Amino acid sequence: MSNEDIKRLPLLPLRGLTIFPYMVLHFDVGRPKSIAALEAAMVNDQEIFLSSQVDSKINEPNQNEIYEVGTIAKIKQMLKLPGDTIRVLVEGLERGKILDYVKDEPYYEVDLMTPIKYNYRDMELEMEAVARSVLSVFEKFVKLSSKVSPEILLTVTSLDDYDRLADIIAANTLVKTEDKQRVLEAFDPVDRLENLYEILTREIEILEIENKINLRVRRQIDKVQREYYLREQIKAIQKELGESDGISEEVKEYQEKIEKANLPEEALEKANKELDRLARMGQGSAEGSVIRTYLDWITDLPWDIQTDDNLDLKNAAKILDEDHYGLTKVKERVIEYLAVRQMTKSMKGPILCFVGPPGVGKTSIAKSIARSLDRKFIQMSVGGVRDEAEIRGHRRTYVGAIPGRVISSIKHAGTKNPVFLLDEIDKMSSDFRGDPASALLEVLDPEQNNAFRDHYLELAFDLSNVMFLTTANNLDTIPRPLLDRMEIIHISGYTEEEKLNIATKYLIPKQLKEHGISKNSIRITENTIRNIINYYTRESGVRELERQIAAICRKVARRLIDDKVKSVRITENNLEKYLGIPKYRYDKVEKNDEVGIVTGLAWTPVGGDTLSIEVVPMAGKGKLVLTGQLGDVMKESARAGFSYIRSRSKEFGLEDDFHEQTDIHIHIPEGAIPKDGPSAGITMTTAVVSALLGVKVKSNLAMTGEITLRGRVLPVGGIKEKILAAHRAGITNILIPKENERDLIDIPDNIKRNLTIRAVETMDEVLEYALVDKAFKVM
Ligand code: ADP
Repeated sequence: MSNEDIKRLPLLPLRGLTIFPYMVLHFDVGRPKSIAALEAAMVNDQEIFLSSQVDSKINEPNQNEIYEVGTIAKIKQMLKLPGDTIRVLVEGLERGKILDYVKDEPYYEVDLMTPIKYNYRDMELEMEAVARSVLSVFEKFVKLSSKVSPEILLTVTSLDDYDRLADIIAANTLVKTEDKQRVLEAFDPVDRLENLYEILTREIEILEIENKINLRVRRQIDKVQREYYLREQIKAIQKELGESDGISEEVKEYQEKIEKANLPEEALEKANKELDRLARMGQGSAEGSVIRTYLDWITDLPWDIQTDDNLDLKNAAKILDEDHYGLTKVKERVIEYLAVRQMTKSMKGPILCFVGPPGVGKTSIAKSIARSLDRKFIQMSVGGVRDEAEIRGHRRTYVGAIPGRVISSIKHAGTKNPVFLLDEIDKMSSDFRGDPASALLEVLDPEQNNAFRDHYLELAFDLSNVMFLTTANNLDTIPRPLLDRMEIIHISGYTEEEKLNIATKYLIPKQLKEHGISKNSIRITENTIRNIINYYTRESGVRELERQIAAICRKVARRLIDDKVKSVRITENNLEKYLGIPKYRYDKVEKNDEVGIVTGLAWTPVGGDTLSIEVVPMAGKGKLVLTGQLGDVMKESARAGFSYIRSRSKEFGLEDDFHEQTDIHIHIPEGAIPKDGPSAGITMTTAVVSALLGVKVKSNLAMTGEITLRGRVLPVGGIKEKILAAHRAGITNILIPKENERDLIDIPDNIKRNLTIRAVETMDEVLEYALVDKAFKVM
């Protein structure tokens, strides 16, 4: 490289600008160092080296912060602007590359190398090929980009100097300094075109994506505008026709409703959002009606409506007495419960659960509680509910979705603090549709129920002011976690005396009132009522009794009108005229002593009952055949009894191998499966012994008790219910296990007086008492 190829020039660093050869450009210069460079250039032959700064933000770049390759330019014009700024006009001449910095102050001076002049003829074809490719992408670029004027395309295509081609295109299209620098640094023209080709192709891709996005955005805007326009037109047409603007009227109504409902923040936000959607919706749209239903639900719920509690416990006690006969213990527990609630001033704490057979007044006590507190009362039966959605609702995405029964009931109550009775919680079941019990648990749990979320509402509703009460017939089938939340109050069945009292003091006056019959128009004797109880009903509670009384009232009302009589007398003799022939007869218990038939006492979820067990021995191979209403536990119990008999065969005078020649058939003719299977143990065993020995069993006798293999009698449950059932059935002799003696306290004295109750410890005692002939040796 000879010295002639090296040029020494002042350097002016450009900020955010790149100048190419042949390009005319003006820019403003303000930095003192740059002005010094300009001045130095003017002293020489007006040539200056222009190169870009790597980072345009730096004010005083050092040597490393300036690109090595730049353009030698001629200063065409200088203009002093106000302030210390100079505007210069330059024309690019050719590329230059810094070899060396000669001095740094007061301006940069550099030694430069300029490009070797190529002999283009050597690579004419190659050049032509790349140039064409570049031209075609450039053309595409111009079409896509709005920034390049199409005239440039004309200039460029008519150009036959390929050396200049890349520079002109780069100068007119490229934006990024790095890209321009890349083109500038390519001294070889083919290289330069190739680089440019690459950069342009990439830019085109970006432009295409940009355009796509723009188009999408524009389409959306167009659609909104179109709808707006059409809606405005509808409005204009409606106005012309003298119709009011339906939607906005409606929206106004909802707005008022929302304001009145005093919604909590979350609900308010949601309601307003939905209202907004409704306002934007066409009038007949299906979606609109979905929104309306939703808004109705939200605004109808008692978010902020509450009744004041009557906290007077004396009043509560008075009301409970007013509505119910007896039930002293139950009433006491209820009053205690209300007292505790008042002390703690919260609804937290266990939930009362009334357990007992149907018709004993569970629901009606709950109603009285509501009445005494001055609260609204709602009742929801969860018996048979399998689907979680019944409790919690369906999501709004379901067609025709509505809230679950909890929220519906609250809306129905119209206050957020009603007394809420959940009936039959022992009869819930769960399957693939989710577990209603766990949803219910959430409803009842004071830690969670202040923000109960219904699937439909998707809003938290505060249930913590609700007083929940529950009822069940049977504790065994209540899911454990639910049971743990509850305080159980047992209500057992009523005796005949109690029923008589309930009927005279409560049911009859109530029914008379409901049928509009005055007290004096009807006479009904005590014995008549007893007959209704004994021959027309068979229940632990008084529901059927109330129905029978209602039936009598209907007939009486009719007679009072049709026959124009003043009053009607109902006696034992004419009762059949009113109620038809008796439904139950208590002579069902065998009048005569029989072989192989024994009366047992059972305890079912609907109360106590008698059950008759029959046994027939047959020649056979020692099989135990069980038929009728037998549960598994009962079968086990029968086997245990049989084993006891075998161990005693000598005392009974039976052949040692009697069991190998005899089949024993045990049958329980009717009645529900007793809840407590084993309690039929001594009854079955007595029947088998009686049948095997051919000895009769006393007829006026009923028994209950579990048996062990060795013949001990174990205690059983439900003694009170069972004894009442025996009493109802007219049986006066009863055998109960010794350990159950303490349960007799619960039996009213007037009933006990009429019964002979014997407590037994062993099977031997049972047989001694039950069998008419003592055909065996008692040890
Ligand atoms: P449950 O909910 O236990 O099945 P209900 O509460 O429906 O029973 O009672 C059935 C009917 O019997 C109701 O009309 C109720 O008022 C009446 N009743 C039950 N027990 C009594 C009682 N101790 N005193 C007065 N009426 C009663």
